Amino acid sequence: MKLFISVDMEGISGINDWDDVIPGKRGYEFGRKLLTQDVNAAIEGAMEAGVTDILVNESHGPMKNVLVDELHPKARLIRGFFKPMCMMQGIDESFDAAFFIGYHGMAGAANAVMNHTLLGSCIQRVMLNGKEVGEAGLNAAIAGAYGVPVVLVTGDTQTAAEVEEGIPGVYTVAVKEGINAFTANSLHPSVAQEMIRKQAKIAIENHKNVRPLPVQPTNTIEIEFKSTNMAFVVSWIPGTELLDGRTIRYQANDLKAMIPVFQAMLLLAVQGSKPLEF
Ligand SMILES: [Zn+2]
Repeated sequence: MKLFISVDMEGISGINDWDDVIPGKRGYEFGRKLLTQDVNAAIEGAMEAGVTDILVNESHGPMKNVLVDELHPKARLIRGFFKPMCMMQGIDESFDAAFFIGYHGMAGAANAVMNHTLLGSCIQRVMLNGKEVGEAGLNAAIAGAYGVPVVLVTGDTQTAAEVEEGIPGVYTVAVKEGINAFTANSLHPSVAQEMIRKQAKIAIENHKNVRPLPVQPTNTIEIEFKSTNMAFVVSWIPGTELLDGRTIRYQANDLKAMIPVFQAMLLLAVQGSKPLEF
């Protein structure tokens, strides 16, 4: 049985602000250790339920956060930033289930720890097919496009509520509760990781009861950027419509083909956010 794991960092046990998740900052190295422990707990639980093949895709910041030599040796690891499918790089139809570990609430989710959507400096809001989505919702739709159900998500209580609404039947572990965007009331990591291990086992045992999100015949994405210049430069991409000063719309039949365009839009928006240096 094959398992795909996308691992973000803001929703890892014991982590509460940017200091813990940005390379070079005071809490980062310890944050990496906690992240690796959370992933390993999920892998152990999944293996107890019969998973034999595990692919972990780094999904935070520079996408080099896992302590490579401390990762469970059964897992393969995709490490590095420039990936057309971003947080879902490596998924395909051969996987039986997906886990999202260390995820966080969408931009604007009240009091969710470090709530944002993909690129906090650029994105105010993302709508997929008329519904606002965070990273978990978007990535679950991508998994669905490959026929893979997302069966376990870990993060804060706000993230758990968000995914329980968006992914029917998903198992969750709330490792902390956001008091505000930079303050959390957390379980001890050892307690949280034991919960992750147990829920991972249950989620895999029941993976056939969680349906992949349905494939849509056409997909529409609307991105509200933080500034007008970001939307302006992105609107030059063929097929992209500028809806208002900060918002663009893009449509594609196949979500799998849309995601690399979305990634290119984000890279362009970053560039469009500031004067070029020549
Ligand atoms: Zn992240």
